[in-house]
Amino acid sequence: MKTIGLIGGMSWESTALYYQTINREVARRLGGLHSASFNLISLNFEEIARRQRSQDWDGMSRILVDAAQRLEEGGAQCVLIGTNTMHRVASEVQSAIGIPLLHIADVTAQAIHAKGSRVVGLLGTRFTMEQPFYVDRLASHGIGCVVPDEPARAEVHRIIFDELCKGQILDSSRRALQEICAGLASRGAEGIVLGCTELPLILSADDTTLPIFDTTSLHALAAVEFALGATGATAAH
Ligand code: GLU
Repeated sequence: MKTIGLIGGMSWESTALYYQTINREVARRLGGLHSASFNLISLNFEEIARRQRSQDWDGMSRILVDAAQRLEEGGAQCVLIGTNTMHRVASEVQSAIGIPLLHIADVTAQAIHAKGSRVVGLLGTRFTMEQPFYVDRLASHGIGCVVPDEPARAEVHRIIFDELCKGQILDSSRRALQEICAGLASRGAEGIVLGCTELPLILSADDTTLPIFDTTSLHALAAVEFALGATGATAAH
């Protein structure tokens, strides 16, 4: 089994989902008491979020590059950035290491293709919904994005930072997100990308009529596939 490296803490609420999903999938595939070989660097999200607010992407790039290099030095054989937003600096991170960075949007695009969708609604932070890095990456796979209008983007961003990153799951916010998803469906979305790694804490397949693409789960499962390859499919339980 290869060793998975994760840059987490953005926020730790979603890092906990990664940790659980990866270990559960390794156990499911290998049986017994198997769990993942896993290196985690968990950053202090306040320091990242402050830089996000001031758009200090160079500063954040330096922090993530340092974390990725430390993961590699510690024996990780791939790196995951456990947040969609921070894929804004994915190319700088990939250039600084000699192991593959598993890009969350590439993994998500594969799942969208597998479902036969061509146009998806994108929910995430303002950075993810408004800057080109994420939409363009999906477009490079032939996938179009519909993003919420300005008031809805503000509301999704607020729910992520004021509630989900602090572990607060409110029914009123779930209903607001459901309405936003319905609006995206009426504008042609054939599926909804949960393009923020905390969104699966509040939205699941039962909450919309459209297929859901849960980036946290897809990214975590891609890491297990990288770590096990064909091994896990054939291992005895
Ligand atoms: N985890 C979130 C994401 O997937 C938001 C936190 C962040 O801004 O990094 O984008």
